[in-house]
Amino acid sequence: MIFIISSPSGGGKGTIIAHLLQSFPTLEFSVSATSRKPREGEQDGVNYYFVSPEEFKRKIANDELIEYEEVYAGSYYGTPKSEIDRIQRKGHHVVFEVDVKGGIKLKKIFGEKALSIFIMPPSIEELRRRLIGRATEPLDVIEKRVAKAALELSYAEQYDRVLVNDDLNLAKAQADEIIRQYIDRETIG
Ligand code: 5GP
Repeated sequence: MIFIISSPSGGGKGTIIAHLLQSFPTLEFSVSATSRKPREGEQDGVNYYFVSPEEFKRKIANDELIEYEEVYAGSYYGTPKSEIDRIQRKGHHVVFEVDVKGGIKLKKIFGEKALSIFIMPPSIEELRRRLIGRATEPLDVIEKRVAKAALELSYAEQYDRVLVNDDLNLAKAQADEIIRQYIDRETIG
């Protein structure tokens, strides 16, 4: 089983995914490769495989990535094929956390084997407030992410499920429910 989760930056996907990984021990996060620099507290091989732009290009040339995007100018992100092998060898379900273009590509590749979930922030204004509150990026970067978010929201309708993250606890419970239904359905038949 493959779960594809997308939302604009600050949409709450990080918190919801962390919650899902705790709730379902058979879910496993697919670690992407990125050419962006690690943020405070991020670990190589856990949050991302942090690589140089040259190393990222080599991965593309060697056909090591199922999909990749330049999500923000100069910052590349991609899904290594090796992650799917690693996770599926253990018999675990794969969780992809990717941008909207990557999400749509992955859904096309995996079709019925994948469920795509879009986490929708309550509003663009609220998104800006969250990003400023999180304070992991300078203001000019935040404004770029907010502008991009408006465009990203227009992709929501192409996802299998849309989860509105207004009340975080409610969103977590709804996410649990979606995953449980899907895993149960697979197990039953
Ligand atoms: P951040 O820099 O905040 O960690 O992530 C920026 C964006 O890149 C997020 O929207 C995240 O979902 C996306 N992203 C992370 N990994 C991948 C990936 O492997 N492929 C694609 N297409 N997007 C990714």
